[in-house]
Amino acid sequence: MEHPLFIFNTLSRKLEQFVPLHSPFVGMYVCGPTVYGDPHLGHARPAVTFDVLFRYLQHLGYKVRYVRNITDVGHLENDADHGEDKIAKKARLEQLEPMEVVQYYTDRYHYFMDQMNVKRPSIEPRASGHIIEQQEWIQQIINNGFAYVSNGSVYFDIEKYTQHFHYGKLSGRKLDDLLATTRELEGQHEKRHPFDFALWKKAAPEHIMRWRSPWSDGFPGWHLECSVMSTKYLGEVFDIHGGGMDLLFPHHECEIAQSVAASGKESVRYWIHNNLVTINGQKMGKSLGNFITLDELFNGKNSLLSKAFHPMVVRFFILQAHYRGTLDFSNEALLAAEKGYYRLMEAYQILNKIKPSPNTSPLSMEEYQQKCFEALNDDLNTPKVLAIFFELVKIINGAYQEIESLSEQNIQFIKDLYHTFIFEILGLLPIESQQSTNLLEKVMQILLDERMIARHRKDFETSDRIRQKLNNIGIEIKDTKTHTEWKII
Ligand code: ZN
Repeated sequence: MEHPLFIFNTLSRKLEQFVPLHSPFVGMYVCGPTVYGDPHLGHARPAVTFDVLFRYLQHLGYKVRYVRNITDVGHLENDADHGEDKIAKKARLEQLEPMEVVQYYTDRYHYFMDQMNVKRPSIEPRASGHIIEQQEWIQQIINNGFAYVSNGSVYFDIEKYTQHFHYGKLSGRKLDDLLATTRELEGQHEKRHPFDFALWKKAAPEHIMRWRSPWSDGFPGWHLECSVMSTKYLGEVFDIHGGGMDLLFPHHECEIAQSVAASGKESVRYWIHNNLVTINGQKMGKSLGNFITLDELFNGKNSLLSKAFHPMVVRFFILQAHYRGTLDFSNEALLAAEKGYYRLMEAYQILNKIKPSPNTSPLSMEEYQQKCFEALNDDLNTPKVLAIFFELVKIINGAYQEIESLSEQNIQFIKDLYHTFIFEILGLLPIESQQSTNLLEKVMQILLDERMIARHRKDFETSDRIRQKLNNIGIEIKDTKTHTEWKII
């Protein structure tokens, strides 16, 4: 390829040219949700980020096997080694079977990701479906001398590991610094070292999700499932591992340690992390009262929001920021994104209404295509791609108002650019393909017909009232000589 794809590898902390291990095959693993609550903004960002990478790699001609797990066991409260399992807790509070909780929130996750046009991964394995494989890994790590059994639980031996390998290479954290800031936590007495982490936990008598093992009736540690399932489906060494920045330490650091301790190999060649989501400049959290679920975002029922936002507007908003920068959600920012999204999509519809100019020589459009590829190849710079499209939007609008002229060939070229970059790679859906918009069109037609009937019988009071009421909810109507036009403002 003329311009190779560069991505920022968290491991080397620099931009690196992406070269697949077994071209044209690419293996990609992304940490999926722990399914114990409704999906929220923190779930939307990694899903959209890695969806674009998945789509782009496919566009470049790679055969991508994209694995994204579902955590349904072993993820304890506060991401710790001690405490209640997040799913078991939800099941207890709601008086449900843990797997009912898992099924319900997995379905909810799929539903909202479908709304945002996030493609389903190639394989979506569950931790509870891979208990035997996880036990095999634990035994291997014990055999290699990097784990020990303590009171029925198995812990990873960090001190032993650091004698041979570098723990902290991904996050850049130093064990000594970490030790100085560690509190004495409950359950630590079973461990030799405060940073040892659980590979297997002995289940307390009241713990529901438990499996037999050589060490105790218990359940696997949270970090283990990703090492086990990624290599099971992608091979001992694979191309890309992604996830949110919050998983960098300890989750991904522990994954590296587990792989090296089990097989002597680091499994992952390129680590990619998306940055976090903030709300009005603050970290999102239930205790902070600024928690927004995707359901609330799409139906507007949250005190931080003035209205509902379409899933495509949220997707557009996420793509307007580079994935490595923080993304600050606010009602105002979403309103601005909404305007931008509709401007982008309206321009596409206007393309069909432009009269091609026969007398002009075609404008050179290839440079726009070139610039879009360059932006994506530069660490998936989606905001840049959108900026390039807004240059095109100006040209389209100019041609519609007959300030600029576009040839038939130009118009077709721009349509093709929309199809490739906006619809296929960025995954933004055109307005007309959405059911709700179709419905809106029909409802608007009914209103405009009623208004026209009123005008014909010189009932201007009614016709003005319809116009004003539509204006109040952000729809502007304009009468031309032959018909009435409307648009969302
Ligand atoms: Zn993971």
